[in-house]
Amino acid sequence: MALVDILARVRGAERKTGAVTLIAVSKVQPLERVEAVLSEGHRVFGENYVQEAAAKWPDLRQRFGPVEVHMIGPLQTNKAKLAVGLFDAIHTLDRPSLAQKLAGLQQAGAALPRLFVQVNTGAEPQKAGVLPADLGGFLRDCQGMDLGLEGLMCIPPEGEDSTPHFAMLAGMAAEHGLSGLSMGMSGDFEAAIAQGATHVRVGSAIFGARTYPA
Ligand SMILES: *Cc1c(COP(=O)(O)O)cnc(C)c1O
Repeated sequence: MALVDILARVRGAERKTGAVTLIAVSKVQPLERVEAVLSEGHRVFGENYVQEAAAKWPDLRQRFGPVEVHMIGPLQTNKAKLAVGLFDAIHTLDRPSLAQKLAGLQQAGAALPRLFVQVNTGAEPQKAGVLPADLGGFLRDCQGMDLGLEGLMCIPPEGEDSTPHFAMLAGMAAEHGLSGLSMGMSGDFEAAIAQGATHVRVGSAIFGARTYPA
């Protein structure tokens, strides 16, 4: 299991910047690999699918005690209520309809998870996230709905150098007074930490390659 190696690399990279949370991304991993990482003492995980997380984490939390689970995949509005009850943080707040849904749940008495706004730093048409040009307006709307925000999240375009995207996200977070920066995956988490990441989302480097069901 590569958890200790990845943790050592995170700790090495963060020395200049401050504490970084390693989110172990366990989506579609076999249960025994997740149990092994829990047995090593890790307690912060990331999931992409509400249904999969709902099937997995209530039982694992019962067996292993409190575990922070972060939603890092696209969130459908009709699954928001389930997600609010299940996750400690949502990294993919990316549109007004979802913000309104979350605000409504909060008004009805729900304690919301910590929220990160996903930014489409590469302005890729197929990718979720608020466009950089629309971010200021979206953040104002969230504020108007009383949504407390922890920070920003991005997934840089594949095959491009991630560093300019990480730097752009860090700049936008600073501009808007947000402290959280969710950025960096297996291939680039050290580069993300160098640009100020507070949360890195690492899957395959810890668990091995994912095999998706056919
Ligand atoms: C799957 C996923 C990750 C982890 O990817 P790896 O390359 O396996 O580290 C990180 N962030 C998001 C949003 C993901 O969907």
